[in-house]
Amino acid sequence: MTDCLFCKMVSGEIPPDKVYEDDQVLAFRDINPQAPLHVLVIPKEHIATLNDLDDTHLPLLGRMVQTAAIIAAQEGFDERGYRTVINCNAEAGQSVFHIHLHLLAGRAMHWPPG
Ligand code: 5GP
Ligand code: ZN
Repeated sequence: MTDCLFCKMVSGEIPPDKVYEDDQVLAFRDINPQAPLHVLVIPKEHIATLNDLDDTHLPLLGRMVQTAAIIAAQEGFDERGYRTVINCNAEAGQSVFHIHLHLLAGRAMHWPPG
């Protein structure tokens, strides 16, 4: 997707503040952090929303979640705790239509989320 912001980060056209990368996923710091640690974990494959997942994507989603857990541990938040969020479409507040898992840590989180 040539007009997708996160695909441009995957290709390197827009260099992200990279935290982790492998052949399937990329993780980088959010430009507008909502917690002391705010990292986005994305698949390298363009998938617009959670509604576009099929069975072939299930290992990829597992890798995204595991990547978030590994980063949380590397940053020292595995015991204190952290939150992972994937927003889907307008009412959830999705603004970039390439799925991304938010990893948030470093402050007390509220529940229910706003
Ligand atoms: P959403 O609202 O779609 O769940 O999350 C999109 C996230 O992407 C937001 O937290 C926003 O701050 C982040 N974001 C938007 N543009 C950029 C950018 O150019 N660079 C980075 N690192 N994050 C971005
Ligand atoms: Zn994309």
